[in-house]
Amino acid sequence: MESSFRFTLHSTDGAARRGEFHTPHGVVQTPAFMPVGTQGTVKAALHRDVRDAGAEIILGNTYHLFLRPGDELIARRGGLHRFIGWTGPILTDSGGFQIFSLAERRVIREEGAEFQSHLDGSRHVLTPERAVDIQARLGSDIAMVLDECLSYPASRDDAAASMQRSVRWARRCRDRFTELPAEPDVQVSNPGQAQFGIVQGGVFQDLRNESADETTAIGFEGYAIGGLSVGEPVEMMYGVTEQTVSRLPVDRPRYLMGAGTPEDLVESVARGIDMFDCVMPTRNARNGQLFTSAGRINIKNARYAEDDRPLDPACGCYACQHHSRAYLRHLYLAGEMTAGALNTLHNLTFYLDTMRRIRDAIAFRTFDTFRQGFLRSASRLSLDS
Ligand SMILES: [Zn+2]
Repeated sequence: MESSFRFTLHSTDGAARRGEFHTPHGVVQTPAFMPVGTQGTVKAALHRDVRDAGAEIILGNTYHLFLRPGDELIARRGGLHRFIGWTGPILTDSGGFQIFSLAERRVIREEGAEFQSHLDGSRHVLTPERAVDIQARLGSDIAMVLDECLSYPASRDDAAASMQRSVRWARRCRDRFTELPAEPDVQVSNPGQAQFGIVQGGVFQDLRNESADETTAIGFEGYAIGGLSVGEPVEMMYGVTEQTVSRLPVDRPRYLMGAGTPEDLVESVARGIDMFDCVMPTRNARNGQLFTSAGRINIKNARYAEDDRPLDPACGCYACQHHSRAYLRHLYLAGEMTAGALNTLHNLTFYLDTMRRIRDAIAFRTFDTFRQGFLRSASRLSLDS
């Protein structure tokens, strides 16, 4: 395919980068956070509110959309953008991470991953080529290669074998991607789709280096770092990120998959990352765990029962502008669906505001001051005790 993807670097501040990338469905300012829209929707949020909170791109999960409602059905609806009514850019994962998470319900071979659906037990084989075809039918703006996701901890031998298989799969994915225009069996929903490679190698830096060198030699529109934020110590994640970024080309976006906490975003931008996705803001919101500029809040805590203050006085979201902690606690304890909606809106706003402040700080070359202040505000600390 002839990708219309283009990445432009505007400025740097230390290793932090301020840029933008162009896709067939619009421009994304980087560093960017991508809310996770697993089933074609960010859980408990309307697209309108996700967009108004500042999201320029969302993520869709190939595994879930392939099983239900099916990539061919979505292609017949004109592709994922038209089907779900999100007009902005979309990134799809390859489905690999979900399949590897199925544990006893899957078998990995050189050909691909054989797995059993969590919905109805039906058997499927996801090969690298098939992961490319499915994402071509979905028509996302950025497709990811199929990689093997290693669990943590893993031995060096296991990490090496897994990384080398991921490199072979990446090559097969790229070959298939370039063949697609001539492939009559695949309805390509978005001819301008880009494809990102994924660096693996666990926590072994020499394996990460080898993976980065071989993956960049294949040549992709952007590069992700996969297999981190899976339980390793946070300093290890930062160290591997920093070293791996140094092997990646400066003129392509770098995407740290699955990270993380607000502190992880700031610390990873400081090491040269441009893109993030994580279920944390939305999943935690539905569990009553809220991020604020002064620290974390568990809204079900009794101390908020008669607390008339907004969740976060510094936040401009609808929940903070209209409701008290006492009311949000009541909604949560009553099991009202609006609890999930308001909490999700707030956490997404917090994440996306953080990204905006990161981008401004890099542009003004004040990122390090911002970073120190952000970490001092101790948003990882709980306000509940
Ligand atoms: Zn808010």
